[in-house]
Amino acid sequence: MSVTAVAGTAAPGKAERGTAAPGTAVAGTVERGTAALGTVERGMALVGKAPGKAAPGKAAAAERSVGKTAAGTGAAGKGARRGGDGSRADGSGGGGGEGAGGGKGRVSRRKSGGRDPLATYRGMRDPERTPEPVPAAGPLPEGNDDTFVIQEHHARSLHWDVRLERDGVLVSWAVPKGLPLNPKENRLAVHTEDHPIDYGSFEGDIPAGEYGGGKVILWDRGRYEMEEWTDREVKVVFHGNRAEGRYVFFQTRGSDWMVHRMDGPPFPDWQPVPTELTPMTATKGPLPSGGRRQWAYELAWAGNRILVAVEGGRIRVRDEKGRDVSAAYPELRAMGAELGSTVCLLDGEVVALGKDGRPDPSLLRRRPARQAAPGAKDLREVPITFLAFDLLHLDGRDLIGRPYEERRAALETLGLEGDRWGVAPAVPGTGRDALKVAHGLGLNGVVAKRRRSLYRSGVTTADWILTAD
Ligand code: MN
Repeated sequence: MSVTAVAGTAAPGKAERGTAAPGTAVAGTVERGTAALGTVERGMALVGKAPGKAAPGKAAAAERSVGKTAAGTGAAGKGARRGGDGSRADGSGGGGGEGAGGGKGRVSRRKSGGRDPLATYRGMRDPERTPEPVPAAGPLPEGNDDTFVIQEHHARSLHWDVRLERDGVLVSWAVPKGLPLNPKENRLAVHTEDHPIDYGSFEGDIPAGEYGGGKVILWDRGRYEMEEWTDREVKVVFHGNRAEGRYVFFQTRGSDWMVHRMDGPPFPDWQPVPTELTPMTATKGPLPSGGRRQWAYELAWAGNRILVAVEGGRIRVRDEKGRDVSAAYPELRAMGAELGSTVCLLDGEVVALGKDGRPDPSLLRRRPARQAAPGAKDLREVPITFLAFDLLHLDGRDLIGRPYEERRAALETLGLEGDRWGVAPAVPGTGRDALKVAHGLGLNGVVAKRRRSLYRSGVTTADWILTAD
């Protein structure tokens, strides 16, 4: 039985009682909210089979085989040396061209003496097997050297490919976490093979097993101004819809470069994602008096409380004491990739669902919840699901000083819906309605949250009341 079904049957005052909105609305909301839970079962059914639809899984498979392919071309040495750095996965790393083509790490070819700058690119792709443009050798198009494209590439490891039009090609870097917005942060940018100008409009799926297999999304396109361009340093100003401002790319070693934002923060009160927050917790007590205009109700999940910071498509998970427990929940890495360039801090709980589809705390206790990474057996036997119920930061703005209902509305705009994660359902109606829904799900409590209340890190607050029976 799926959790969705449980939620449906659990809902009080459903159609058969002939009562109107409240009960049905509860059922509907809970069903929407628990759709993510229902999908866990489908997710489990896929274990052991070839990855199917979702880009991250597919990309993972693709890049594993890409790694093997690269080993044959000689590009792999670098990939292997760097270990888990996925930016190499699509052959970023100067590709197989080293040795033959010369010009390792070079980004300027005005004196290239007639060498075909796209030879490396073509040598890595079979036009019969990839939808990417693979133009025949010939004269390069002439342009104004003032356009750029940034592609979000869900290869084995997510990265953003930043490409600048220059001398008839797109000079390219693979940036694992994307362009930084924080002027204090340098990010790795791996110089990769020049791409054809036509690549600037490419998006689509590179088949698994092909070079760079995975989904490519056009993240931004626009114009750039070049301020300085040498073999070791490139200063530009991006004028895109998303990429905006002065950046410098500078070479550190071989194909390894860094990218740095030279402008100030993107807007005046911009903040980096907070790292020091710990969860606000509820006071135990009876259902509060005061109507539904004052109080909103959620279910008490009896799971593991975590805060999940997402940046550059990567997640960092902290427990209620602020300890880094990222390794304990590898299932959530795909949530980071799915959020792409969204920067946020999520508050919520990890639950484990039993065979009946209901949260099962005793099952969850079998999973390591600390620093230790779970083994294959844990992953298989105790799959976890993350239910987000609060949003403390979004894209440079701290939300802890905003009222609960505003944070909750912002959370619901994120479209968090995966096999292993989702938004915890809000239960409309009264506290009694919420308790009935909770009991139907096998949970023993609800949390009342004062709609106007702010988030106070590390505080046990009377603005959140846990009612259990
Ligand atoms: Mn790429």
